[in-house]
Amino acid sequence: MNCPFCFPSLDVLLYENDLIKILIDSYPANRGHLLIVPKRHVEKWEDLTSEEKQALMKGIDLAIEILKKVLKPDGFNLGMNLGEAAGQTVRHLHLHIIPRYKGDSNFPRGGVRKAVLDIEDENLSLKEKWIKNRLSKEEMHKLKEEFTKIF
Ligand SMILES: [Zn+2]
Repeated sequence: MNCPFCFPSLDVLLYENDLIKILIDSYPANRGHLLIVPKRHVEKWEDLTSEEKQALMKGIDLAIEILKKVLKPDGFNLGMNLGEAAGQTVRHLHLHIIPRYKGDSNFPRGGVRKAVLDIEDENLSLKEKWIKNRLSKEEMHKLKEEFTKIF
């Protein structure tokens, strides 16, 4: 297996414990772009244990604290690409921590919401976009129903 997160080069490995690793992204979207990965080679969120999920959250704490100290960013975007349709290319689950700096983008508004962006979307007004992406009453109802079943 040739997984870059199971076998990262030592110069990108920042931290490691029993459950997670924190790595420097080799194709950074911004200065200080880090990745938090479970130590186990797991592709899907559903395959993580609850201990691993908690460890990932703890990893966020650590990464943010240290990035703030070292690079003094003004904000962060956090995100995961789960599944090929969402842009996941490495089949080892990873959480992106992308530090943001004032002025690094002319239009920062929307942040991770801009993960779904194509030329057509660019030409729509914000209002048109919201309308296009809004769920139907039936879909919303179905979602609420499913949540009620769980909790
Ligand atoms: Zn792996």
